[in-house]
Amino acid sequence: PGGFSAESVRQDFPILHRTVNGRPLVWLDNAATTQKPRQVIEALAAYYGAANSNIHRGAHTMAREATEAYEAGRAAVADFLGAAGPQDIVFVRGTTEAVNLVAQSWGRANLGPGDDVLVPVLEHHSDIVPWQMVAKQTGARLVPVPLTKDGEIDQDAYRDLLSSRTQLVAISHASNVLGTVPPVAEMTALAHRHNAKVLVDGAQAVAHFPVDVRELDADFYAFSGHKLFAPTGIGALYAKPELLAGMAPWQGGGNMIESVTFGETTFAPVPHRMEAGTGHIGGVVGLLAALNWLTSLDREAVAVYEGDLMAYAHEALAGVPGLELIGSAPDRIAVLTFTLAGQDPAAVADWLDRDGIAVRAGHHCAQPALAHYGLESAARASLALYNTHGEVDQLVASLRRLQESA
Ligand code: PMP
Repeated sequence: PGGFSAESVRQDFPILHRTVNGRPLVWLDNAATTQKPRQVIEALAAYYGAANSNIHRGAHTMAREATEAYEAGRAAVADFLGAAGPQDIVFVRGTTEAVNLVAQSWGRANLGPGDDVLVPVLEHHSDIVPWQMVAKQTGARLVPVPLTKDGEIDQDAYRDLLSSRTQLVAISHASNVLGTVPPVAEMTALAHRHNAKVLVDGAQAVAHFPVDVRELDADFYAFSGHKLFAPTGIGALYAKPELLAGMAPWQGGGNMIESVTFGETTFAPVPHRMEAGTGHIGGVVGLLAALNWLTSLDREAVAVYEGDLMAYAHEALAGVPGLELIGSAPDRIAVLTFTLAGQDPAAVADWLDRDGIAVRAGHHCAQPALAHYGLESAARASLALYNTHGEVDQLVASLRRLQESA
């Protein structure tokens, strides 16, 4: 419907035309990583084939070109997130590194005994472990925010847990386990009333709906390029300028200094102060191409299409005998996590793989969230804009055959 056709978008993805185990690939592991359009693959080939150079130093033509490409990528990320400008964007390896940067730079300076960091039980390990580490280092307390049965963050409990002790709240903009989309703007406003900062993990959100960090009033916002049709190894952290300006570097090295003597180093202004060493220049080139590709689509029509596909998949899966979908909150995107009676999730994934269908089985880097449902492992089918109703039919047919063969 609308101005979007999954069938025509599929033509941009060479990998979707391969076979796996003799069957056409059905890629339903998009929450782990998305595939790359040829626009990204071609941008990488062009960069490495004709434009490769380090940046910011050598005073030669190609160094200047690479610097321009790198900084154009930063400006594109700022636009994509609704940030005021490129100076608010730090390049990182991905969401995990962004959270660790905030924990080690902002957290170490601002947390101490008597302080709380609130993290919903639903969160990815990358929103739990870095805060657990910095809590141990600083004496702060890591406080889990419970979930409702439906898999939503318990908003009453959240309100009760917020206090003058709260220094930071870390929330995913969309859950990688359930696809739930919490009311981030409201939760942020509540946290701000207690003078707490909010870090939003956008890893699962950015590929599915437009984000505006200033509308959310997020203090920090992180995402990974590879879940957004871009290469692995590149991602971005947005930080409010007044926060970033006060943050000390978390890694030292080249590119992040103003002057160095053995006695003392003075640092470059942000964001460069946060980017020690040679960055992933090719990754930024690929990310820029991915953002240009994605934003050239009618994103409202994409969201309508994905919503329709999700509803279709939800209903079709619910009809498979013995299949139980985990979490039933209505506001969710792209992720269907399930168990199949009498089947180990790993065996389910293995069976589907023989039909060329890629899903993930395991704890999805969210052991506390699965434990909430009394599970250690589950199967997860996660959708992207290039998936089709026909692919959902193949998933359902394969699961039905598995149940019949059991
Ligand atoms: N947060 C969420 C919600 C995720 O889904 C993921 C990836 N599964 C991450 C963080 C970590 O992303 P990365 O491994 O790219 O750093």
